[in-house]
Amino acid sequence: MVKREASYVEVLPFEGFGESLTYRLSSHFLERVRLGCLVRVPLGKRIVTGVVLGMTDSVKFDSSKLKNVVDLVLDQPVLTKDLLSLSSWLSSYYACPRESVLEAMIPAPVRRGMKIKKRRLIEISEPMEAAEMESLAKRAPRQAKLLAFLANQKLPVPRIETLSRLQVPATSCDALKKKGLINETSQREERLAYSDNLSGDEEMVDLEVELTDEQEIARNAILEKMKTDTFSVHLLKGVTGSGKTEVYAKVMEKTLRKGGGVLFLVPEVALAPQTVGRLRARFGKNGFKTVVWHSHLSEGERLDAWLDVARGDAPIVVGARSAVFAPLPNLQLVIVDEEHEPAYKQEETPRYHGRDVAVYRAKLNDAACILGSATPSLESMRNAQMGKYELATLTKRVDDRSLPTVHLVDMRRELLKTGFTQVLSQPLRDALRDRFSKREQSILFLNRRGYSTTMLCPECGFTASCEHCSITLTYHRVGSRLRCHFCGYERPSFRHCPECRSDEITRRGTGTQRVEDLVKKAIPKGRVLRLDADVMSKKNLFRRALNDFRRGKIDVLVGTQMIAKGLDFPNVTLVGVVDADLSLRLEDFRAAERTFQLLVQVSGRAGRGDQEGDVYAQTYSPESSAIQFARRSDLDGFVEEEFRQRKEFGYPPFRHLVRHLFRSRSEAKATFFTEQWSLRLREIVDPTEIEVRGPASAPVEKIKGYYRFHLWYFMHSISKSLPKIINLRREFPLDEEVSDVIDVDAQDLS
Ligand code: ADP
Ligand code: ZN
Ligand code: ZN
Repeated sequence: MVKREASYVEVLPFEGFGESLTYRLSSHFLERVRLGCLVRVPLGKRIVTGVVLGMTDSVKFDSSKLKNVVDLVLDQPVLTKDLLSLSSWLSSYYACPRESVLEAMIPAPVRRGMKIKKRRLIEISEPMEAAEMESLAKRAPRQAKLLAFLANQKLPVPRIETLSRLQVPATSCDALKKKGLINETSQREERLAYSDNLSGDEEMVDLEVELTDEQEIARNAILEKMKTDTFSVHLLKGVTGSGKTEVYAKVMEKTLRKGGGVLFLVPEVALAPQTVGRLRARFGKNGFKTVVWHSHLSEGERLDAWLDVARGDAPIVVGARSAVFAPLPNLQLVIVDEEHEPAYKQEETPRYHGRDVAVYRAKLNDAACILGSATPSLESMRNAQMGKYELATLTKRVDDRSLPTVHLVDMRRELLKTGFTQVLSQPLRDALRDRFSKREQSILFLNRRGYSTTMLCPECGFTASCEHCSITLTYHRVGSRLRCHFCGYERPSFRHCPECRSDEITRRGTGTQRVEDLVKKAIPKGRVLRLDADVMSKKNLFRRALNDFRRGKIDVLVGTQMIAKGLDFPNVTLVGVVDADLSLRLEDFRAAERTFQLLVQVSGRAGRGDQEGDVYAQTYSPESSAIQFARRSDLDGFVEEEFRQRKEFGYPPFRHLVRHLFRSRSEAKATFFTEQWSLRLREIVDPTEIEVRGPASAPVEKIKGYYRFHLWYFMHSISKSLPKIINLRREFPLDEEVSDVIDVDAQDLS
């Protein structure tokens, strides 16, 4: 029998079995529960929170056993319609549970139904005739009591306090509300206004600038497309310092005036203080509030930020990756700055790519998406080439400032000249001294990944490596200790080689601390500041450091790749790249792309003011194409050459790459199951559709005691081919000591 009078909802509980279940709505909730609402439902013996993913008037099975929704957490839906569709796409594209996607979309305090500081107020809407009142008093004395009380109030009164004082149950109040006899409104109690002024004491003044011709062409092209309110993606390819932010801002202005919401993604919010400051200064005065979405928000702040956005009080959201899920009600523009940044890829479930999700979300909203970069990813370049993305190009720096001159320092020649390997070559040291004497600033850049000081025995070749991970330990001067950057394992440094007892064991490699020491030696009077992960973890320190540098209190900044991003310091005229080859040595087909991007981006930090800039890049392979093209800032040349190679091997962007990683504490089990799976898979897949490579040991063979093996799957269409693998995986039993991860469009191949 199909029951008609009740309504049913499909609810996906957060702590359930990963499946949505059907519940009944009591009449009380009938009109209040909508798609995307957060509700509390019984599950076994517990009451759990879940999201309403579907609604229906009838069910095809016996509904008498269905349980009721017991509570509505928040009156408004926590997911907009587009986010609901997005969550379903994400979970199938990235092969991850819908539940994990919803968890990523809805901030924890909202999900947990954290008390929203909101007072519900009630007031009488229509005074009742005395006769009616008498009859009500007979039928429903408690309703009458409440109504009589409200009739004597001049202002709305707080609901909870009133009901408890009069000892009237909430159901009576709701009944009156339903009859339209009383009105309920809510008034938010503002939490302490939070300070998320990331730039510290640095307040931005907005300077309206006149767009350059190139900027104007780019802006007009984007606005022209936006007129039709259809989905479009624009790749804004602009050299460093060409004023991409100004183009974004001009397009934002138009969007905001039309009442549209704007999502502005940056790779790391802590590195975008200038952008945030500029946007606030410009749009705040017109009453457009900017919410900054970042990981340092407290739960209360996060909730407030979320509410501001969900209620349409703040039409601008600036944030890192996860801000792509901000519940903007009328999203019309999505901006992804530095779209090539690997930081947009989330490296835990759900393993989504923030940029790709941004594009898809824009599509769901018939909105425009702008992807900006001086060094676009090859994926985006390919999309532009195929006409999927519109291309807008800024070839010149504003005010025609020139790009810095890049000098390649051939370290092989330096080695021949001096007879030993150098960290800082003579030309770089000379340049540092020269800038210091002119009171200009320098930045020395060192790639962090895998390259730092470790301990090495020259007698027997022993290197200090972690007991749990197959990587070398990093030497930390403070306390003279060796530390593993993967698992945190720590031990005192060695006095003797543990293998051969030689006391010749020494430190080797170049850490930021080492470079800092060498710079101090080169310019003893110089003020040197080191910025690396250690400093970065102390947020205020980082902020203060950047401010000091901007004010000229520091002469040389030594840092890891974090300083390659977006920073704009006008007095920097020298950038030194200590080891330009580093990313070339990684076992990753994107190595050349990363090297190119890093070199061009760090070079972009030089010569942003009135003086011209110089870059010194130290390299042992000056002939490599990534380095040569980067030296000339020749993006198109690099892309053409790199495309040729990627195409030959069928690498992205010519096909999608899915990485399947197996992990186990038991090496034997990991090997066995990976092999078994690989055999099974090869039986069913058509190699022209899905090319399977591997299994092989992952480049980092062991992390935290877990052995790692992987397979690579290449395919043209994720939506068409991936389900075949997923379906097979469902039927393939894994040992409980082995776990696996499927990473779609994998970036991290370590
Ligand atoms: P990009 O992001 O392309 O590297 P930015 O947007 O940071 O470049 O701009 C570089 C600098 O140029 C900023 O200080 C910005 O205020 C300034 N700028 C941008 N557009 C103009 C313009 N049209 N006229 C003058 N200055 C501009
Ligand atoms: Zn030894
Ligand atoms: Zn370790």
